Amino acid sequence: MNTVSFADLKLAPQILKALTESGYTTPTPIQAQAIPLVLEGNDLMAGAQTGTGKTAAFALPLLQKLLPHASPSTSPAKHPVRALILVPTRELAVQVEESVKAYAKYTHLRSLVVYGGVDIKTQTPHLKTGVEILVATPGRLLDHIEQKSVLLNTVQVLVLDEADRMLDMGFMPALKRILALLPRQRQSLMFSATFSEEIKKLSEEFMNYPTLIEVARSNATSDNITQKVYLVASEDKHQLLAKLLKGEDAKQVIVFTKTKLTASRLARQLQHEGVSADAIHGDKSQLERMQALDSFKQGKVSVLIATDVAARGLDIDHLPMVINYEIPHAAEDYVHRIGRTGRAGASGTAISLVSPEEERYLVDIEKLIKKEIKKERAELPIARASREISPPRASQEVRRAGGEPHEARGYHAPVAKKHNHDPWFDKPYVPNMGEPAAPLKKPDEAVATLKPKAAIPALFRRQS
Ligand code: AMP
Repeated sequence: MNTVSFADLKLAPQILKALTESGYTTPTPIQAQAIPLVLEGNDLMAGAQTGTGKTAAFALPLLQKLLPHASPSTSPAKHPVRALILVPTRELAVQVEESVKAYAKYTHLRSLVVYGGVDIKTQTPHLKTGVEILVATPGRLLDHIEQKSVLLNTVQVLVLDEADRMLDMGFMPALKRILALLPRQRQSLMFSATFSEEIKKLSEEFMNYPTLIEVARSNATSDNITQKVYLVASEDKHQLLAKLLKGEDAKQVIVFTKTKLTASRLARQLQHEGVSADAIHGDKSQLERMQALDSFKQGKVSVLIATDVAARGLDIDHLPMVINYEIPHAAEDYVHRIGRTGRAGASGTAISLVSPEEERYLVDIEKLIKKEIKKERAELPIARASREISPPRASQEVRRAGGEPHEARGYHAPVAKKHNHDPWFDKPYVPNMGEPAAPLKKPDEAVATLKPKAAIPALFRRQS
């Protein structure tokens, strides 16, 4: 059990005051481990997923270290960039900076976030007023560097947050360009859910004998998340989703889909059915994504439909439920998705709707999380009735090709009598070990089909 308090970690009174206001009483395990190490000046390589409290694990000691430089002066010269926090996505950038701002509330340290997808001119004046802590996505930071609106030669602490995602998203060349501009003499912290060979290589290049810490096995799923699988035919998923959304514990739900198209279509369908739903994915503008997220956070929208890429880093307090409308083809994405609920010790439910075609991915997921997920066959009276008289697959496709709004109704209508009903629905659950078909590849969702990553090898772990 973790009995350390924030005061034990020797944090300054003005930081402790902000933490109390944020409602934090005790440090999370990653905070208890990382804060003393960072305060001692170590480089750190931390294996921690979102939801573990990793932002405060680097932000709190970083603020404490910068406190002697805090100045009430309005002169930009008094506020050089001393800490640079690089993150993969705009949403994560905004959330990290919000946290930093909250923790720095009673200090004179300034923070700012810059990310792409918005007019750079709106960011430059803020940058020029001087900020000690800069949170940035790599591409936009390079734009600012080129425009000479920021200087990085005063950076004392560098944080790479969600480093694995940054590499997955192709930021390695940008990172190298940025790293080359930083002073050699600095402290570097890297947070990553997984550590691949590429990540280790990067750490060798830019870190100085980092201490390795890990709070939970990289691909472990939190025990406070109840996981459940409903076995359901693809064409019955919408009906099952509608039923689940009516449940008591479904007041606020993130629903994951594999593609942007499904996300948009599902959001539209649910809106037609009177559910306050919105979609968040890469085709939406930054403003639309922010607005959807804000409405969801404020409870104006109760269902947020998201793709993996858009949902990365989403941090919604006390989110009770996540539903996988389609399970991800990369098992690791499952861990990230369900990690949106059950954050910071709260409990949560993660439900996956799995069609027969998706079973093989479920096998991979269970292998990765080293856990068997409870499975139940969906109880859908209309679906069962219709399935018994549903036409063979080929004729369904003909119907769809003929322009009938197949999915708009949520289930298929009885059309022709089927001689043998699908035996899949009668047999006990047996994982499909057959050869997987080629996964769906959409260029926009490339990040959702990542190679599984290795967990941190035991050799690297810090003995505590
Ligand atoms: P993170 O892993 O940094 O994304 O944090 C996940 C969530 O946990 C955020 O909503 C934080 O505000 C919250 N959090 C972080 N540290 C603590 C703490 N010590 N006590 C309570 N909540 C925390």
